[in-house]
Amino acid sequence: MGVAKLLFGLRTCQPHLMEDAISRLDDGLRKAIEDIVVGGGPFFGDLQWRLASLPMRLGGLGLFSARDVGAYAFVASRAQSWELQDHILRNGGVVGLDPDYQQALERLNVSLPDLDIGGFSNKDTAPSKPQKTLANALFSKIAQSLGEAFDLSPRQKAVFECLKGPHAQEFLTVIPIEGLGQCMSAVEYRTILKYRLMIPMYPEDETCPICRKACMDKYGEHAVHCKELPGAGISAKKEAPVNFLTDPTEGRSTLRPADLLVFGWGEHACVDLTGVSPLVGLKENGFLAGLAARKAESKKVDKHAKACAENQHVFIPFAFDTFGSLAPEAINFLTRVQRVIHSNCSTPRGQGFVFGRLGFAIQKGLAAQLVARLPSVLM
Ligand SMILES: [Zn+2]
Repeated sequence: MGVAKLLFGLRTCQPHLMEDAISRLDDGLRKAIEDIVVGGGPFFGDLQWRLASLPMRLGGLGLFSARDVGAYAFVASRAQSWELQDHILRNGGVVGLDPDYQQALERLNVSLPDLDIGGFSNKDTAPSKPQKTLANALFSKIAQSLGEAFDLSPRQKAVFECLKGPHAQEFLTVIPIEGLGQCMSAVEYRTILKYRLMIPMYPEDETCPICRKACMDKYGEHAVHCKELPGAGISAKKEAPVNFLTDPTEGRSTLRPADLLVFGWGEHACVDLTGVSPLVGLKENGFLAGLAARKAESKKVDKHAKACAENQHVFIPFAFDTFGSLAPEAINFLTRVQRVIHSNCSTPRGQGFVFGRLGFAIQKGLAAQLVARLPSVLM
């Protein structure tokens, strides 16, 4: 179920006639998402629904609500098909603006008072991609005012910024493939969604069941960076020993493996994976999404790039945070991998699947961390 069921109606009927249908569809959709995420449990409120129904690039789950789409669908559809209407109605004596469209424009002006919709009242000035223009304007406005609308705490604001990070939400588009290990259990997927939708999962002040040292916090911040791994945390599977990646401060081992050794990258390339939790030491002000991953990236470069270069290897830091946002070098690396894939096989509409698959792997690792510490009632 989704807004697609109602799209034709939203695009072709006057908005006020769709009110009832919009309410019903949204009630059902919200209930369905709530069932998937919390399975009858508490804490799925207006904020979670708002987040779920935002586009993915703005940190949402991309499950659009009929109310949002209904705000612009009719006007967009009319503006888009203006030429066609003129052609069909050329002998019917219908010219220019009709009251239906005028009314819909006025309604739109209420939802988007800051947007200049003057261009929409004339065929020659209407934007060439009206739906995109209006959807962008509406959702950007909603995302911008989310902080005030829901009186978000500093942590909530920070999480929202993280969710909007580059490629952070792309794992949502991935279709599970069991043979590649790219699948999650229902509990794992649900836990990831709860983490992202800021739903409390843990009893506060209970000892972490894995390390037995630290206290749990309700949103799972400790679970994310607890040093004890439950066997399947975020870690690289492929470890290739190279004899020059020694940490000079450790000094003992001369064989430190590169997380991943890539051949045919000009020179061979050592890829070093680093996952960080962006919310560690969150301050009241001055939180910058993506900063933790970028810092981790430059730290790794300082540490290893020289040794790699001296041994005719390229060093590639691959830093990401727990929300799946990637540091610039990681994006460059995957973009190149993606280009190679595209040039070797035809992937119609396969756009960006490399990022999605990688995002899924990160989230799967995170899910293992979180689920291992869940109280049994939530399993
Ligand atoms: Zn722990």
